[in-house]
Amino acid sequence: MKCKPCEGTGKTKCSDCNGEGLGYGHGKCMTCDGSGLIECTPCEASGKVSLFQWMNLKRAE
Ligand SMILES: [Zn+2]
Ligand SMILES: [Zn+2]
Repeated sequence: MKCKPCEGTGKTKCSDCNGEGLGYGHGKCMTCDGSGLIECTPCEASGKVSLFQWMNLKRAE
């Protein structure tokens, strides 16, 4: 099953910098290392989830 939060890309937008890659004031965001993207947790950055995981995600919506 394709992972929903990341649309199968394995990456999701960094919530700390809202995908901009910038930290507070100056410098890059430490969470995503300035890329604005972080590894997707539900699919462990693979972009795919098992049916079981997928069901859990559905329930969490
Ligand atoms: Zn970030
Ligand atoms: Zn994912």
